[in-house]
Amino acid sequence: MKELRKFDKVVNLAKTKGFIFPSSEIYGGLNSIYDYGPLGTELKNNLKKSWFDFMLARRDVVGLDSAILMHPEIWKASGHLDGFSDPLVDCKKCKGRFRADNLLEKKGIKPTFGKDKSPDMGDMKCPECGGELTEVRQFNLMFKTFMGPLEESANQIYMRPETAQGIYVNFLNVMGSMRMKMPFGIAQIGKAFRNEITPGNFTFRMREFEQMEMQYFVHPDKTKEVFDKWQELRMEWYKDLGINPENLKFREHESDELAHYAKRALDIEYNFGFSKNETFKELEGIHHRGDWDLSQHQKYSKQKLSVKDEEGKEYIPNIIETSGGVDRATLAFLMDAYTEIEGGRTTTTESNKAAEVVLKLDKRLAPIKIAVLPLSKKPDLADTSNKVYDMLVGKYRIAYDETGSIGKRYRRQDEIGTPYCVTIDFDSLEDKQVTVRDRDTMEQERIAIDEVENYFEKKFK
Ligand code: ATP
Repeated sequence: MKELRKFDKVVNLAKTKGFIFPSSEIYGGLNSIYDYGPLGTELKNNLKKSWFDFMLARRDVVGLDSAILMHPEIWKASGHLDGFSDPLVDCKKCKGRFRADNLLEKKGIKPTFGKDKSPDMGDMKCPECGGELTEVRQFNLMFKTFMGPLEESANQIYMRPETAQGIYVNFLNVMGSMRMKMPFGIAQIGKAFRNEITPGNFTFRMREFEQMEMQYFVHPDKTKEVFDKWQELRMEWYKDLGINPENLKFREHESDELAHYAKRALDIEYNFGFSKNETFKELEGIHHRGDWDLSQHQKYSKQKLSVKDEEGKEYIPNIIETSGGVDRATLAFLMDAYTEIEGGRTTTTESNKAAEVVLKLDKRLAPIKIAVLPLSKKPDLADTSNKVYDMLVGKYRIAYDETGSIGKRYRRQDEIGTPYCVTIDFDSLEDKQVTVRDRDTMEQERIAIDEVENYFEKKFK
């Protein structure tokens, strides 16, 4: 039997343990749309909170939550109506449909094109049946809908394909209401929608997803230092939350890859290891967008979006953007945390010798922080166990599990990344102590019930 890739194991764990489900599954699913289960919701919320706290920890960054539906002129101004497209090819024989640049990448060929130009496919044939491919066509990725009762073109609007535009059009509102001084940044997390031609690789490429983006407005002379600073900070965030540095790298875009307005673009890539030629893939982009965005919105909205420098000279702020995907990051953290121990860690009984899975998520990301485990279901232990549960439940996300052998219960918690288990046994009734087990070291410590709150306050500081 073919050895499963780590990626496949993570997809399986995500489904069976309540992290991520295919959307609308009882109706056969909806291609590349996913729902987050109870544990996935916790993980994603923890990740988003961590990002927001990290970005806003700097005095010059504030938050925003702008709407998904926006004035349709915005997409003309931003260039999305004309240029937000991917190169598409069809197979004339089997009717398969592919993204032209992906076909080239899979063959290890670097696509010679920018976002606005079609790639040269050479004599590429269909990867499924070897049939002839059509010419490359550009396919716009924006989802359309209608506002109001009449489905006519005058009422057509778009589901935003990125959260950034909501920030640009609120530049004046934020600066005025918050008395912000240049330079400053606006950060937001929100849904984005792209009608991707070939979605896939689980939540890596979805049609409905979440972005976490920060747009930093700065004088054109100061862009380099801002870019360098955010490049370092964003990489630090991934490492600090536990991703193995060996699985992360920067990739500078070459000039022929840049969108026409972009001055510089650099990706933070993660080693997803989808296939031989698809190891490191984009997690987040850091972009120098020049004054393109505000100039365009000034032109289309006819509102003045310039500011004055110290000498009173007007200029349009330049923008340095950090643009990451919440779902891609969640997947990367899951993949990096996934650890399989051949032969198991606990060898006390035969059944414990199978491969063990430990999800070594950072404590801050772990969906469940502490599991309370009465050794037995017997009512004698219930009072003490409930007492421990009640002490912790308002402060942390807690699991309470009293079924199955204690070994199996530890493993269940290891698999979903719970950093600590608290076991209440019959001695606890006498000595008023419980056992705390550490997920990563499996070390067990006996602590007084009265000390439990203090103990975890230190652990989760
Ligand atoms: P790609 O080249 O992979 O299509 P992109 O360069 O178009 O990505 P951006 O427009 O820079 O991506 O979007 C910023 C971030 O949003 C990406 O780094 C990624 O993390 C996330 N993202 C973009 N498209 C998707 C998608 N279809 N599904 C999930 N996340 C996405």
